[in-house]
Amino acid sequence: MKKFKADYVFPVNTGPIKNGIVTVDNQGKILSVDTDDKGGKVEKLDGIICPGFINTHCHVELSHLKDKITPKKGLVSFIKEVQTKRNSAPEDIMAAAEKADEEMYRNGIVAVGDIANSNVTAAIKKSSKIHYHTFIEVFGFRPDKADELFSNAIALSQQFKGLSSSVTAHAPYSVSKDLFRHIGKLCEDQPNLMSIHNQETEEENKLYRYKTGDFLDLYQSFNIDISSFKPQARNSIQCIIPLLSNKPNVLMVHNTYTNLKDIYFAKRFDRKIHWCFCPNANLYIEGRLPKVDLFIDQGFNITLGTDSLASNHKLCLLNEMRVLQDSFNDIDLERLIEWGTINGAKYLGIDADKGSIEPGKTPGLNLISKLDGLKITPETTVTRLI
Ligand SMILES: [Zn+2]
Repeated sequence: MKKFKADYVFPVNTGPIKNGIVTVDNQGKILSVDTDDKGGKVEKLDGIICPGFINTHCHVELSHLKDKITPKKGLVSFIKEVQTKRNSAPEDIMAAAEKADEEMYRNGIVAVGDIANSNVTAAIKKSSKIHYHTFIEVFGFRPDKADELFSNAIALSQQFKGLSSSVTAHAPYSVSKDLFRHIGKLCEDQPNLMSIHNQETEEENKLYRYKTGDFLDLYQSFNIDISSFKPQARNSIQCIIPLLSNKPNVLMVHNTYTNLKDIYFAKRFDRKIHWCFCPNANLYIEGRLPKVDLFIDQGFNITLGTDSLASNHKLCLLNEMRVLQDSFNDIDLERLIEWGTINGAKYLGIDADKGSIEPGKTPGLNLISKLDGLKITPETTVTRLI
């Protein structure tokens, strides 16, 4: 048994507790959280204790691309660079992925929603101390390829047997209606969590509204014929939401160019939309942030992600929280911790055990220290306690 006391405990299911004490058993299960030490040895810590972090968007298999992709060139250029540079010796990819898994563990991350286009991370995930849900991601904008691409994804999902996984669509600009329909059918037939890259660039909206913009050049450079795609006169998200099943939770990731009309559209539709923000990746790729304040208090669940090391310098949710706090005055630490813990757990469906410090749960415990009051500063750190 261990007892930790800190200036504040943020259990997340209830408000912060000043001079709170958390008692855990040897397996990390929470026994109590209150202000009474009931005798016994207490480890006193400076800072705040919060639950382990939930990173809802990563691509561990892209970790070898750290510092390899030119920043701030926009998403289309980023995609081109990733495509030309992602192939590498399997042992290098594995070694970088393993390091990324260790980095996330050290930074207090207890669960990850991770995108995969190959089986390269399966073994690492099996032996990791982190809980992973793997999204087998499909993409293909040519309708005639949909059947084949979908069967390939189902075959790949077999390689993640024994691990939590589902088949998901990459992004509106890269998935044909037919492929969306295949995935939609799967969601009707079985539990199948969805995670979609959404409006990461304005070019995606241009493609859907007018069939113009940089994606036309991208498809031309890949020799992909998109003549069957017709302009839809609406932003991308408004075109794809109707194609989704209303059964699974759907994570819309990035949302950098999502506007209030799009948010209202998502609200009106009977779909389980959750929003995930990955601010450091947005700054890396597009040099701008989503209008995060528009999403607050709209009744949606909001989560945080690091995205991959191809577009981030660290896999650290505290670092994502720092950027949001510094860019949006109304977003305080309590809210950010909620986004980085219980909300991610709810989206992934693991909130019975993770995401808040409640007796009976095994959420992991993090110490956030060197805060300025309750403000994250450049010096603020996260340390994993258990
Ligand atoms: Zn991503």
